[in-house]
Amino acid sequence: MYVVTGATGQLGRLVVEGLLAAVPANEIAVVVRSAAKAEEWAKQGVRVHEGDYDRPETLAGVFAAGDRVLLISGNEFGRRAAQHGAVIDAAKAAGVALLAYTSILGTATFGLADEHRATEEVLVGSGLPHALLRNGWYTENYLGDAAGTVERGAVVGSAGDGGVATAPRRDYADAAVAVLVGEGHENKVYELSGDAAWTLSELAAELAQASGRPVEHRNVTPAEHREVLIGAGMPEGYADVFVDVDAGIARGELATAPGDLARLIGRPTVPLAKTVRAVLGA
Ligand code: NDP
Repeated sequence: MYVVTGATGQLGRLVVEGLLAAVPANEIAVVVRSAAKAEEWAKQGVRVHEGDYDRPETLAGVFAAGDRVLLISGNEFGRRAAQHGAVIDAAKAAGVALLAYTSILGTATFGLADEHRATEEVLVGSGLPHALLRNGWYTENYLGDAAGTVERGAVVGSAGDGGVATAPRRDYADAAVAVLVGEGHENKVYELSGDAAWTLSELAAELAQASGRPVEHRNVTPAEHREVLIGAGMPEGYADVFVDVDAGIARGELATAPGDLARLIGRPTVPLAKTVRAVLGA
């Protein structure tokens, strides 16, 4: 079986879509917190397991010997190393054939990377055949409120001229599918990112071009950035994480573009301009 955890998240849904296009539905299983969210897949013949990274007992029996598993990292900062460890333990007990993990680019040293490094260590130490899918940033991270950004006329950040080699989630999902259904990925490390890095000034220019409205890049200090994020309603802990990531971007830690993603998916990654136009309906 091909098994996807975190399947009802934004990346996971795209991975399951990709798998459904590649292999019969009855060879796919998903591990989800709420089976209700996976009903459509169940109707198509996908096996649905309820499982919670926080409750190891719910993970017993969701994997079987020979499974090829994608562990999609969780989204609760500070708890993820233990959560991922629970999934790895269950996969190890079952004797899966491959465990692929959505990690972070090897160049990232900011705080958010710590739990990914810890998970990688446990996974490699487990002795399981594994694939490290070290994902760079999603283009969508910057476009959740693209219309609002255009309305305000400013992309605000503290990353300076640091580049970000993003790709849309779909590209990373296609890479995960390629690794799950393909051969020869055991014990490989992939540094996955968009083909070209861009700066926040270039993002502002793309938003301006696609919308026909003026959009500038306003670089602020980390302290100012934190205030802006909190002022926009972001909890303090998250604001700290965002500011810390921007410091990493300023140091060039997410600009890596070795081409692994394009090679895995067999096509160029989708460029920033195309995603911006699609999001703005331009
Ligand atoms: P989402 O937040 O959309 O999805 C996270 C998934 O993890 C959901 O399916 C969620 O389940 C599942 N999950 C969270 N906690 C648990 C738990 N305790 N037990 C079982 N499942 C759990 O994130 P994305 O799909 O966009 O991204 C996937 C992951 O990539 C993120 O979780 C995060 O680790 C990382 N990420 C990467 C970014 C990048 O730019 N590379 C940006 C942001 C995140 P449910 O559907 O039930 O909520």
